[in-house]
Amino acid sequence: MAAPVLALLDPAGGEPVLADAATPVLRADDLGVLRGESVFETIRVAGGRPAFLDAHLRRLARSAQRLDIELPGGWDTLAATAVDAYDDADGVLRLLCSKGPADTGPVGFALVTPVPAVTVQGREQGVRAITLTLGIPAGLRATSPWLLGGVKSTSYAVNMASLRHAADEGAEDAIWLSTDGEVLESPTSTVAWVSGGRLVTPPAGEVSILPGTTMDVALGLCDALGTPYEVRRGTTEELLAAQEVLLLSSVRGVAPVVQLDGRPLGIGPVTAALRDAFEAALVA
Ligand code: PLP
Repeated sequence: MAAPVLALLDPAGGEPVLADAATPVLRADDLGVLRGESVFETIRVAGGRPAFLDAHLRRLARSAQRLDIELPGGWDTLAATAVDAYDDADGVLRLLCSKGPADTGPVGFALVTPVPAVTVQGREQGVRAITLTLGIPAGLRATSPWLLGGVKSTSYAVNMASLRHAADEGAEDAIWLSTDGEVLESPTSTVAWVSGGRLVTPPAGEVSILPGTTMDVALGLCDALGTPYEVRRGTTEELLAAQEVLLLSSVRGVAPVVQLDGRPLGIGPVTAALRDAFEAALVA
């Protein structure tokens, strides 16, 4: 297994510097540490390249804007430096920009680590999921920007607690529902389902969920595969009655949900075709 690689961004615009992966990077008074004011991206490294890097960098910039972080430049060089130094063609690249201490400003780094075996297992064998309420109506965050819907910040404690709760219930993942009965997203994935032969996924802007880069690629692949799809809001009842349910995220790719709230689901044909097409697109 390849050793982790850490590369440090020079906010002043100089070349990135490689450092021992155990090097402390953030100060105790960093606003990212103290208040969760950091933005990040998690990117699959496949065939020795960060996959769909441009889409991730665009989203990183949007997240930084929402947190009022003045994002320094140089992220593509930083990503390339880290991935080139990593001793495997496959991995997980994390880019993180913290708001930093008040007297220095933002701090950025790239970290490359191996793909966890459990992630590959989820893609190949499927995951068990349970539905959980997020405690808000579906449209609330779109009209309340301070709730930071659709922002990839490191304030992920609720996301991680949701996954722990799912684990306590014997599942590997969770699907968040709104209080008015709509499907939102998962703590680290976009949700889609197959209803009447069509792939359906909620519109990120309207229900203020994270616009998934994997979902975006998957919709393009649906066109190529001749799979009809709809980007529209969907109800809990529809999700629970779906023929197939899928979780999509950068590192896991397209993962079938093989059990939802205790109901067994097979790995259906739409999911299997999309999963294979996505894996092929990563190295195309
Ligand atoms: N939704 C949330 C809350 C996420 O954290 C993630 C990824 O980590 C996604 C969706 C999927 O996004 P992507 O496909 O860009 O990895």
